[in-house]
Amino acid sequence: MESLIFEKTQPGRRGYTLPALDVPSIDPAQVLPRESLRQSPPALPEMSELDVVRHYTRLSQLNFSIDTHFYPLGSCTMKYNPKVCEQVAGFTGFKALHPLQPASTVQGFLQVYYELERSLSEICGMAEFSLQPSAGAHGELAGLLIARAYHKYKGSARKTVIVPDSAHGTNPASAMIAGYQVKSVKSDNQGRVDLQALEAALDRDTAVFMLTNPNTLGLFETQIKDIAKRVHDAGALLYLDGANMNALVGLIRPGDLGFDIMHLNLHKTFSTPHGGGGPAAGPVGVTQALTPFLPVPRVRKTEQGYSLEESAPLSIGKMRTFNGNSLILLRAHTYLRCLGREGVRKVSEAAILNANYLRAKLKDRYQLAIDDLCMHECVVTAAKQKPKGVRTLDIAKRLLDYGFHPPTIYFPLIVDEAMMIEPTETESKQTLDGFIDAMNQIAQEAEQNPDLLRTAPHSTPVRRLDEVTAARQPNLRWKAVPVHSSCSKRIPK
Ligand SMILES: *Cc1c(COP(=O)(O)O)cnc(C)c1O
Repeated sequence: MESLIFEKTQPGRRGYTLPALDVPSIDPAQVLPRESLRQSPPALPEMSELDVVRHYTRLSQLNFSIDTHFYPLGSCTMKYNPKVCEQVAGFTGFKALHPLQPASTVQGFLQVYYELERSLSEICGMAEFSLQPSAGAHGELAGLLIARAYHKYKGSARKTVIVPDSAHGTNPASAMIAGYQVKSVKSDNQGRVDLQALEAALDRDTAVFMLTNPNTLGLFETQIKDIAKRVHDAGALLYLDGANMNALVGLIRPGDLGFDIMHLNLHKTFSTPHGGGGPAAGPVGVTQALTPFLPVPRVRKTEQGYSLEESAPLSIGKMRTFNGNSLILLRAHTYLRCLGREGVRKVSEAAILNANYLRAKLKDRYQLAIDDLCMHECVVTAAKQKPKGVRTLDIAKRLLDYGFHPPTIYFPLIVDEAMMIEPTETESKQTLDGFIDAMNQIAQEAEQNPDLLRTAPHSTPVRRLDEVTAARQPNLRWKAVPVHSSCSKRIPK
């Protein structure tokens, strides 16, 4: 068990010493209101500088991170983000700008917005994108507000949004926040949208059908053209949750498949370190007919240069302050400029190849959710291990002992004991083989020594945490300790 820095305290030890005071000292009570003065000194750890450095360096090395470990979190795309994107985002000329600077002084950044917007539109086959939304879920909300504004403009107040039962939880949540009722349609036994169920759900109240393609099982929705036709025949719009664009970039354009609105997760697909709740970007793209409803401001290019159009009569308005998470947008632009048209296609091809390699190598020991070619991620289950009393959680925990971050587990919800594995395109065959060996070793352990798995991990500083309580009732405070006598003397009473 790692001790807390507070437990390592040595009363009287110091990280630094200040020279003696060369000005008169004053009693804080003379200059500060009495009620603002502390009654007792803060219970801070007393340590040397080296103690502190070693403590935190050690803690930082206990982390699993993409720079240290394979990190196959499906649906999240924890891929490698080239360091050049970080370098460009760190250029002072970009970093030191203020969002309220006049457009004439930020022409470079406006050009980045403009060109990124054009690239994303080209990649997705959409007419235009807005770069404003701050995450995927925020892009969903923007997209649904656009759909609402469109239907209202057409004079029809439609009330429902349809989502497949395999959808990510943000889809129904965004629909509710946009003021819609949510209808769920079941998947068929191939893990795809059940066309008959969709047809039964569609009616004159349907505003939008939200679909993820490839879906959350990592499978391409092969009936997409039929789906689009049925949705459009019902007068509704087809929305793409573009979180899985990693499999499509450079290969297929959602606009060509019949999608009217979509969002991208730049932090999943176009290079931004992802995780820990850090900043993200979820640009929303639309077909020509929907462009008047896009959020403002819009970047325009004229003879005189680039400018921001602050209002448009039918726009849904602003989704956030200023113009979006600019440095995330800059990373995406850098990424696309480095890779180019050919490069992004190779990224998608390698992502699909890597996922299918894992799928083929794991399928003897692990049950596949659906036995079919996958796109950039695949879903396996612990169905073969369950009779031995070994569950997905146990396998995930045991992977930590082998030095691998576990895949996404228990998602999608429609698969029992799911493990959703996304290797991403940047992993070498050697790394993938190492992961496959560990998974196969674990499958063998499940046969021979299930207890070893049920008590894993064995190599980490803490074992099994109560994750639900930690999430619902986080207790981030360290319990108060008695005041150290060495400090209390120095606080005036
Ligand atoms: C990640 C994800 C989202 C939500 O995106 P955020 O950027 O986390 O808000 C929505 N749908 C799917 C399928 C996702 O994987």
